[in-house]
Amino acid sequence: MESQKKFEPTFSFELFPPQTAQGIEKLRKTRQQLAQLNPKFFSVTFGAGGSTRERTLETVLEMQAEGHKVAPHLSCIGSTRENIHAVLKKYQEVGIRQIVALRGDLPSGMAQAGEFRYANELVAFIKQEFSETFHIEVAAYPEYHPQASSAQVDLQNFFRKVEAGADSAITQYFYNADAYFNFVASCEKQGLDIPIVPGIMPINKFSQLIRFSDTCGAEVPRWVRKKLEGYGDDTESVHAFGLDVVTALCERLLAAGAPGLHFYTLNTAGLSSTIWRRLGI
Ligand code: FAD
Repeated sequence: MESQKKFEPTFSFELFPPQTAQGIEKLRKTRQQLAQLNPKFFSVTFGAGGSTRERTLETVLEMQAEGHKVAPHLSCIGSTRENIHAVLKKYQEVGIRQIVALRGDLPSGMAQAGEFRYANELVAFIKQEFSETFHIEVAAYPEYHPQASSAQVDLQNFFRKVEAGADSAITQYFYNADAYFNFVASCEKQGLDIPIVPGIMPINKFSQLIRFSDTCGAEVPRWVRKKLEGYGDDTESVHAFGLDVVTALCERLLAAGAPGLHFYTLNTAGLSSTIWRRLGI
């Protein structure tokens, strides 16, 4: 972790593009609240295969017009070079200067992989077509990507994204700080020198957390799982316990030199901002 200490810490919030008029209103309120905490940027997710293309674009443009610093996510699976270029061109024109470049997962029923296979190809494409216009973030997996054949292969694939031009990384969420420390140490051993910012998932609902974690390969430690399970429908206790667990995780990460935190807000301000305030960011 030594070399991560030299990076200026960045603290950011992730949002997703809403589907309904009600969701749009809710997101406006959420980002107003979160903006008061003065994050470095907001990121906005993008459904793979272009499923949220218009909604992501609209959300990003609205936020950019409001004066927020926005980093749109862009997933390349199921897309053509032409499509991706058009989105990036639009972002360039309105002054966006940071992109979270991802492969994404093909939505079920969509058979066409498109013209990109992996995120490193997207990173290379952005560099080739837009040179240094965008600061490029990529995804990192301290507990390894669920499809990776081994931890070592996954690390090599992470390096490919950095070699292709990624400037920094945001991790999948995790609750085991040692997985992150080990991942960063492995990167440093190979001479990799970019900030790797931990992704933080506040604990809102037990069933939702287990569903997400099973899908994305994040481990919920047994003791956390058991405690949450025991609280059942007692949301207040789930939140109180979750806030303690996640705040302690963040404190440990920052004390060890993590270069910031990226909060998966799920479009609600409450839990993320409570952790943020507790940490005194
Ligand atoms: P890649 O880096 O391409 O890796 C995918 C898999 O392929 C890994 O197993 C890797 O080991 C392997 N691999 C990579 N490169 C190669 C190669 N050259 N040859 C062979 N194998 C290779 N998803 C969305 O749909 N929209 C979002 O907005 C979104 N935002 C995210 C933000 C963050 C911070 C994170 C951590 C994830 C996000 N995801 C999002 C989820 C992500 O799209 C999935 O985890 C997806 O399965 C992998 O995307 P990736 O960019 O990490 O892919």
